[in-house]
Amino acid sequence: MIGKIRYGNSVIQYHVIKSNRRKTSEIQVDKGGVVFRVPAKKTNSEIKKTIECKKQWIYKKQLEFAKQPNKVSIKKYSKSFIRGRIRHYSGKLQVTPQKIVFKKLRGRWGSTTKDNAINLSVDLLKAPKPVIDYVVLHELCHIKIKEHSHQFWNLVHRFMPDYEQRRKWLDLNGKVII
Ligand SMILES: [Zn+2]
Repeated sequence: MIGKIRYGNSVIQYHVIKSNRRKTSEIQVDKGGVVFRVPAKKTNSEIKKTIECKKQWIYKKQLEFAKQPNKVSIKKYSKSFIRGRIRHYSGKLQVTPQKIVFKKLRGRWGSTTKDNAINLSVDLLKAPKPVIDYVVLHELCHIKIKEHSHQFWNLVHRFMPDYEQRRKWLDLNGKVII
């Protein structure tokens, strides 16, 4: 059932979902809209009353979502951007990472495991693009050379002659790269 209720000048539309299993009511407000889950025995006038009582809260919640509509999609976008960069540099280096995992890494921007899985800090999603490229290249180079040897840095340098500049940003922003 779809209902409507006025709040000031705006109209709030809500979906009512009745369920036999439900004992309590719950209002869910997100970008997709307002969903009101209620026990099956709740009458339509009871439903209207509850919504009426909650309309200010619903309206505020909706405003919050209107203010920050893109938080999730920015994150998604950044992840797919980074995956794209990984594909780009993997091709250049001719390496294949086992998998890419974004997680909360304490004190690190990224790391590569012995079996060539690459862990990237979720904080990297907020880093400037040239810096992201450096972290990606750095970790991919570890697939070829595990330790930070001369050869390792030469390899990084070959594909990114200005890597030291990009590395500075990481140092300034307080984490190490492994
Ligand atoms: Zn490293």
